[in-house]
Amino acid sequence: MSMTLSRDSVDGLRAQFSGEVVGPDDGGYDAARAVHNGFIDKRPALIARCANTADVADAVRFARAEGLEISVRGGGHGVAGKAVTEGGMMVDLAPMRGSYVDPGRRRARVQGGATWNEYDRATHQHGLATTGGTVSTTGVAGLTLGGGVGWLMSRFGMAVDNLTSVELVTADGEVRQVCADSDPDLFWGVRGGGGNFGIAASLEFEAHPVDTILGGIVAYPLAAALPVFGVYQEVTAEPPDELVSFFGLVHAPDGSGNKIVAVPVCHSGDIATGEGLVAPLRTVATAALDLIGPIPYPVMNTLLDAAFPKGARNYWRSAFFKELTEEVGGVLVDAFERVPSPMSGMLIEHFHGAVTRVDPTATAFPHRQRGYNLVIAGEWLDPAEDDANISWVRSTFDALTPHMADTVYVNYLTADEPERVRAAYGPNWERLVALKQKWDPDNVFHLNQNIDPTA
Ligand SMILES: Cc1cc2nc3c(=O)[nH]c(=O)nc-3n(C[C@H](O)[C@H](O)[C@H](O)COP(=O)(O)OP(=O)(O)OC[C@H]3O[C@@H](n4cnc5c(N)ncnc54)[C@H](O)[C@@H]3O)c2cc1C
Repeated sequence: MSMTLSRDSVDGLRAQFSGEVVGPDDGGYDAARAVHNGFIDKRPALIARCANTADVADAVRFARAEGLEISVRGGGHGVAGKAVTEGGMMVDLAPMRGSYVDPGRRRARVQGGATWNEYDRATHQHGLATTGGTVSTTGVAGLTLGGGVGWLMSRFGMAVDNLTSVELVTADGEVRQVCADSDPDLFWGVRGGGGNFGIAASLEFEAHPVDTILGGIVAYPLAAALPVFGVYQEVTAEPPDELVSFFGLVHAPDGSGNKIVAVPVCHSGDIATGEGLVAPLRTVATAALDLIGPIPYPVMNTLLDAAFPKGARNYWRSAFFKELTEEVGGVLVDAFERVPSPMSGMLIEHFHGAVTRVDPTATAFPHRQRGYNLVIAGEWLDPAEDDANISWVRSTFDALTPHMADTVYVNYLTADEPERVRAAYGPNWERLVALKQKWDPDNVFHLNQNIDPTA
């Protein structure tokens, strides 16, 4: 416990807390501070394991009074590892995972520590769904507040485009219901501004009728990567809103370490129409794996889960492409042939449809152009292999730099590129800085991809 933190003051917090206040000597401390990225090993002075919104507000007031740095943990998936603080207070929302669906209004409210698995299952009970994470173990809050890429984005927009209100604990410790009517400016900022404006104790979304979809993955040996890339370019040239597909260079899920090219697809409209649209992707060569068929929507968001086990070491780089040219395909395959870890992969995400029909300044999330986004996901287990894997990610990104735009999705930034946060916000940067000055002038919420109020 830090010199300034007395046992009496911690006991005072504990006395009123519904959840648990955990210190380094308490049981559960190590499990609570461990996040998805095994690279992160930080030791908070206290972990406030919140059970409800009042706990979140009390934790913020306590940390401010005691001068403790605050970190906020939603689903714990942030690769940058900002959910944990070294020596401060981790406000841990992991115990807050409830989802409450109102099928009549087609609205669903979810608590700030829930993962997409929990949200998707809750809405699916009513044949409803919202754009959300493609890996079901990812947190709803962190993913949404940064934007929210998902399989339904071309039909219904990003997760933020479906957000209707946020129960926000602001830097002064107050609980506010923030929506377009109550505070349009702040609501604009939380829709993309990450955790910069407060802690989302709960979030309410619009949910849409989506039940069974045509989805899955088709994969080929790496030798077919360039022909598959060509067909992918054709299929994604003018797709309907119902179809989203990604292009991946990954490793076979059977543990063989074999390199494959994989195309996950999700068609949320008529199944037979979808079968026709994805057919070219399934017949490029002899598929190593073809798991495309009608599946419940929540299952779509679990298909990539096994590729991202908790505790693996992660180091990522990401940016939007200027253009997806044939040359890009060659650079990607060339780099992937040299990948040191059999867990690493590269994924291209396609942005089109509803997500691109929103004005870039309508929400804080500005990436509304049609096009493609790249994620280079370095993933490995052995700390002795840190250097080799980090340099592979960096050199691959460097090789692709001539093809990349100066724009990046904030949620894919790692911890060592603060200079790119501005690029993540493009035309919205100045308005975000002004909003940060108003709502968090002391930068209480700075363990995030930070919008510095003095910038
Ligand atoms: C395997 C994997 C798959 C991913 N897939 C997708 C994807 O399909 N689509 C996509 O858009 N992104 C995806 N991401 C990126 C993801 O959006 C970010 O990692 C996001 O930060 C995860 O949110 P979290 O709540 O799980 O993370 P955390 O690590 O808990 O939080 C990250 C940051 O978000 C903020 N935050 C979290 N919860 C709250 C809250 N309740 N209130 C206020 N601020 C909060 C905090 O600043 C925190 O530091 C993926 C990441 C991983 C590791």
